[in-house]
Amino acid sequence: MVRTHNLGFPRIGAKRELKFALESYWSGAASRDELKAIGAQLRQRHWQHQADLDLVPVGDFAFYDQVLDMSFTVGNLPERVQGFHGDALDNYFRVARGRSARNAEEHGACCGGVAAGEMTKWFDTNYHYIVPEFSAQTEFTLDASRLLEQLAQARAQGINAKPVIVGPVTYLAIGKTKDGSERLALLARLLPVYAELLDTLAAQGVEWVQIDEPLLVTELDADWRHAFNTAYHQLKSSRVKLLLGTYFGQLLENQYLVANLPVAGLHIDAINGRDDVLPLLNLLPAHKVLSLGVIDGRNIWKTDLDAVLDWVEPIAAKLGDRLWIAPSCSLLHVPVDLDSEQALDPEIKSWLAYALQKLDELKLLATALNQGRDAVQDALAAHRQAIAARRASPRVHNRAVEVAIARLDTKKLGARKSGYAQRAPLQAERLKLPLLPTTTIGSFPQTDEIRQARSQFKAGTLDEAGYKRAMQAQIARSVREQEALGLDVLVHGEAERNDMVEYFGEQLAGCALSQFGWVQSYGSRCVKPPVLFGDITRPKAMTVEWIGYAQSLTSKPMKGMLTGPVTILNWSFVRDDQPRSVSCKQLALAIRGEVQDLEAAGVRVIQIDEAALREGLPLRKAQWPTYLDWAVESFRIAANGVDDATQIHTHMCYSEFNDIIASIAAMDADVITIETSRSDMELLDAFEHFKYPNGIGPGIYDIHSPNIPTREHIVQRMQKAAERIPLGRLWINPDCGLKTRQWAEVIPALANMVEAAKTLRATA
Ligand code: GLN
Ligand code: ZN
Repeated sequence: MVRTHNLGFPRIGAKRELKFALESYWSGAASRDELKAIGAQLRQRHWQHQADLDLVPVGDFAFYDQVLDMSFTVGNLPERVQGFHGDALDNYFRVARGRSARNAEEHGACCGGVAAGEMTKWFDTNYHYIVPEFSAQTEFTLDASRLLEQLAQARAQGINAKPVIVGPVTYLAIGKTKDGSERLALLARLLPVYAELLDTLAAQGVEWVQIDEPLLVTELDADWRHAFNTAYHQLKSSRVKLLLGTYFGQLLENQYLVANLPVAGLHIDAINGRDDVLPLLNLLPAHKVLSLGVIDGRNIWKTDLDAVLDWVEPIAAKLGDRLWIAPSCSLLHVPVDLDSEQALDPEIKSWLAYALQKLDELKLLATALNQGRDAVQDALAAHRQAIAARRASPRVHNRAVEVAIARLDTKKLGARKSGYAQRAPLQAERLKLPLLPTTTIGSFPQTDEIRQARSQFKAGTLDEAGYKRAMQAQIARSVREQEALGLDVLVHGEAERNDMVEYFGEQLAGCALSQFGWVQSYGSRCVKPPVLFGDITRPKAMTVEWIGYAQSLTSKPMKGMLTGPVTILNWSFVRDDQPRSVSCKQLALAIRGEVQDLEAAGVRVIQIDEAALREGLPLRKAQWPTYLDWAVESFRIAANGVDDATQIHTHMCYSEFNDIIASIAAMDADVITIETSRSDMELLDAFEHFKYPNGIGPGIYDIHSPNIPTREHIVQRMQKAAERIPLGRLWINPDCGLKTRQWAEVIPALANMVEAAKTLRATA
């Protein structure tokens, strides 16, 4: 009999119940008991949904983050939060969110001003975890209370529980040492705690524990490979059976290592790592369970069940009871329930599956494997029909786009007419900018008025004309403020955009937006990725009217503001019936059209944001060049169809460029604005060493903080920048958009920025 299981369920709730409960607890409106009750309710409901699987994950629920949960389980709290008042949950949120010095009156003596743990992306997903902190002194002690409590709750509900934990090697690998010590040196101290945890679970009668080691799909050096052997040889004496969880990619050269670790079972991502499976069938010792992740846990398309069965049936015949099936990874990365969607186009909806629908697919597959396809004939037929309909739908296929992509002359479309050295003087002549021009990244505060107008418009209580007037009033305000401040290149402020990807997703054909397609990004933060379901076109101009209006209010250059193709792609659910590179190029052609329309409307500076270009890097370095090639090509197609005198900007809000600087240079934007304030201009070293030839605007203050940077501070920062990049190619700007700030913070900060520019010019 093939068995079914799940690796993890989205914890946020179909209606984002956890988000609202957390925020209400943090604001003081709800008590801790109320929060805990919502947590228990959600777990109960989610287990109910999974009750007829053979094994159900327990411990995948977290109030903030599963990695932070693991840090608490192994007793690895940062020193700065130790010894405070309150219970474990207080400390937990203290690490997750920090505590600003503003609470200092109340908590001054105890926990005022605690820095939050650093957050970073969980492998190649859009989920952010709290980075474990280590030092040479780190000691570990077991606190199994969370797992035991959840286990007891699941058992009381009659659930066949499989506790889920992050494995010890991945746990060390995704953390950071603060003192430059070697993380692997801690393995010997960490393993006894894991062993004790497994024994504790065994004592509760647990049969299987899922121990996640996604690190195994990355390139490992000898020390880390050795660490896997050490770890699992030491844990093998435990009385529980370990299911080693790997996902998000291919094992490749790690196949042999993985197959021979002394565990009872192995889970493989058969969506991203399908090619691993056949070699593994030969490598895997005959007593081991093989779990195949045959349903995509990272995307929202219905599974082609016939194709899965064609592939799995022979494997099932060979493995018998040793075969399990599951989603490829935790369902944390997909929304909960497609049935919540009431407004989604029914045709598109019929092609999709969220977490609950994926579990139904899993059960169907198991029945087909165990009892024969005939036993679920009707359900399979219905599925087959949906898959076929999607494949053939004219909503998916647009002949003109497909022809354009097939004939795409990337070299020609992607190149400016002249090099930067020829373009720069033409742009200077046209824009008449001073030395060290000042600008901002795009958005201005999203005020209550903006939010109100938007929600009234959505609810139908404000008509289109009224909405347009409200937005224009906000744009006019932004322009007035910028003129008063004396900024050189203005922006319209993005009042009309709720989100930099959603705004374009709503207007592009071939892209749909859901109502409840929320996915946890970090803590209580969720995102609702657009669904790229078909060939992409741009039915009409998307931004020209707003930018044109903004430009009409000022004689200063107004920047056109667009989101780039790579960022739209990386922040969407992307169709799985063609390579991502093709979807990206389709987006590129659509954005290119917008760039050219802006230019034709007289816009002289156009910014194309690529905030997520770096995030799309594959987990394995060997695959970076291929991704970077098509990502850069896509940007070039989008950006480079303009005249030499039109200035193209791009913006990226991160500060690691060392390893991708050649690709950044190949994008050939006239100006790139980047985040630098938190790294104190050191990241400009990468640009200096590479002899990056174009304009750069190193962000001179951190927009995430309400602090107002002083003029002196900005001057000092820019002097540091000028040690690395010639003054003539530097711009002055904040790190990122200002939409999360208040006008009362923005105005003095930008005033200081403009003053700093004057000081610097006077002494240049
Ligand atoms: N133009 C966008 C803004 O200012 C850029 C946001 C981003 O880079 N994340 O909001
Ligand atoms: Zn940014």
